[in-house]
Amino acid sequence: MYDAIVVGARCAGAPSALLLARAGYRVLLLDRSAYGSDTLSTHLVHQPGIAALARWGVLDQIRASGCPPLERTVYEVADIRIDGCAGGVAGQRAKYAPRRRVLDALLVDAAVRAGAEYRERCRVTALLRNRTGRVVGVEGRHRDRHFTEHARLVIGADGMRSTVARLVAAPCTVRHPLMTCAYHTYWHDVPADGVELYERPGAWVAAVRTNDDATLVQAYFPQSRFEEVRTDARRAYEEQIRTTAPSLHERLLGSEPTERLHGTGDQQNFFRQATGPGWVLVGDAGHHKDSVTARGISDAFQQAEALAAELANVLADDPARLDAALARFAETRDATMAPGYQGTLGVARLAPPHEQRLALLRAVRSDPELVATYLDVVAGVVSADALYTPKLLALL
Ligand SMILES: Cc1cc2nc3c(=O)[nH]c(=O)nc-3n(C[C@H](O)[C@H](O)[C@H](O)COP(=O)(O)OP(=O)(O)OC[C@H]3O[C@@H](n4cnc5c(N)ncnc54)[C@H](O)[C@@H]3O)c2cc1C
Repeated sequence: MYDAIVVGARCAGAPSALLLARAGYRVLLLDRSAYGSDTLSTHLVHQPGIAALARWGVLDQIRASGCPPLERTVYEVADIRIDGCAGGVAGQRAKYAPRRRVLDALLVDAAVRAGAEYRERCRVTALLRNRTGRVVGVEGRHRDRHFTEHARLVIGADGMRSTVARLVAAPCTVRHPLMTCAYHTYWHDVPADGVELYERPGAWVAAVRTNDDATLVQAYFPQSRFEEVRTDARRAYEEQIRTTAPSLHERLLGSEPTERLHGTGDQQNFFRQATGPGWVLVGDAGHHKDSVTARGISDAFQQAEALAAELANVLADDPARLDAALARFAETRDATMAPGYQGTLGVARLAPPHEQRLALLRAVRSDPELVATYLDVVAGVVSADALYTPKLLALL
């Protein structure tokens, strides 16, 4: 009997297992994929996520993997260029963009060091329930063998297409249509300055340095163009960079990407019911949004910490207290994630920027302190209200 079984061992699942194991609980961490495998992502972790990695003792290993700190952000829209550094949080001013095969493996290692039991290539296919219908465990296949395991709590950290969410029939409580499609690949010998962001109506392009001296370049398109874009994704990708980020495009000329193009047209926007008797969803399983604002990893970390805090003294307790703690987690999740969700939907429309927003950016660009606060808003360190200081209002 485990205290918790965590299904999915990446940005939501591995930290959940790590924190619960550190709290003294008996934790089983499962993933159908192999240890150290890659997954579709552009890797950018904002400062709140970096601060979490530092708290968990994983940041030094990210640095040791050769992943460079990204202190500076350059953002171009219309005739405006914002160039500066965020204020950051908890002493972390830099973002990082580690390859997921690096980040996810280091998180699993930390969970295992904390005492969690980890099984790779282990697919959950069904949930076990007691007489009252409460979830009390999982069953599935580990490599080629059928298995069942029991636990007080099953944590679905199994991503946007969550099996746990499907098996408990967790409904979506908020849902919006698909908004973008996105393609990326990696380039060598293409120097990029920290994080580079380029926006124009119908387009968004980002460049970040990652492991192996590579620069990841990502291009976003409206979802309405997905069928057309996917017929010749390489051509559409290069054209989007040329027209949206000409200075970056020039640096790519003469280079060849080091990997095939990776892309998706399925980035759903939803909140699912977060919990029920004996189960809870964390990370993308419970709440997913377009990746254009690169919030998913930091948000998964934040949810793992919020869940572990609620479970601190109740996981081995009677089910009613456990369910009450899970309900508090659900409430916190919805309240904490809502502003970032709304902000992401706003960016993912890829609509022409409002004149009001351009006026704000023109005011911000001239002052390093305002630039730092603006970049903190983008990173989710502070809310947008923090920007409206007397200094900014005087410039508007
Ligand atoms: C194109 C793209 C770019 C992105 N870029 C960024 C970015 O730059 N920054 C950022 O913060 N976020 C980004 N995101 C979002 C980010 O990748 C996710 O928010 C993050 O991976 C969520 O982590 P997770 O652990 O919840 O889910 P996942 O990373 O999806 O992990 C779920 C795990 O569950 C496992 N699993 C699934 N079903 C089962 C089962 N039945 N049994 C056992 N295991 C199972 C899977 O194998 C997987 O390993 C991007 C997403 C996309 C699609």
